[in-house]
Amino acid sequence: MRQKVIAGNWKMHCTIPEARRLATQLTKRLDKKPAPKTRVIICPPSTALSAVSEVAKGSAVYVGAQNIAWEEEGAFTGEVSVKMIKNAGAKYTIIAHSERRKYFNETSNIINKKIKTALRNKVKVIYCVGETLDERQNNLTKDIVLNQMEWDLKDLEVTDLKNMMIAYEPVWAIGTGKTATPEQAQDVHSFIRDIVDTIFKGSPASKLSILYGGSVKPGNAEDLLSQPDIDGALVGGAALDAAGFHKIIQASEKVGKK
Ligand code: PEP
Repeated sequence: MRQKVIAGNWKMHCTIPEARRLATQLTKRLDKKPAPKTRVIICPPSTALSAVSEVAKGSAVYVGAQNIAWEEEGAFTGEVSVKMIKNAGAKYTIIAHSERRKYFNETSNIINKKIKTALRNKVKVIYCVGETLDERQNNLTKDIVLNQMEWDLKDLEVTDLKNMMIAYEPVWAIGTGKTATPEQAQDVHSFIRDIVDTIFKGSPASKLSILYGGSVKPGNAEDLLSQPDIDGALVGGAALDAAGFHKIIQASEKVGKK
């Protein structure tokens, strides 16, 4: 059975007091026993990681960073290292979010180094892939995703996958209110599972959690999460509202085992 995951990417939102408030609202909602079977992860900005980790302590909520530097230490002004986010309580980090690829020119070479740096330091990775609207309209979705995975995951071992999950995030659906239909998302998720089994030996894909991201909301979560190869969601905008994010977690709890 694969781990169900609902992860919230808060992006560049929330001062420390705001982050503490949002995390508290969420942990209170998840307080009731039994604890959710879904792994709940929230990824605040790096300045709020410590504060949010304090709030999340003892709760069902795990904390993740949105990014790390590819180097572990050194003269890299403005960067935040894997050891720093780990020390601030992060157990996960998002890597290769499309906003990082687009606005910060993250290439496969950089992404590959970041994934290896995270895993070497025992921080789990939420690795993102996805095509732009232009690429989808030109029937290139699968070529793009295949290319991203082949290069971004270069030289990783099959055992690394135990500490990774993949998020399929069509760029045209992120923050736009447009969501991939459950069928469109399922089609790419199943393709991603096939690629994983092609790249790595031993059919590891059946155990790998693959999340969908792109305008997931309480109203569309259940339909998406019911698809056989969609194990969870990476949620941006809707993660900034504790009640709505909690509804997405409840949708995940509702859908059957995979
Ligand atoms: C994201 O930031 O990863 C994301 C999916 O954003 P949104 O849910 O707002 O589309």
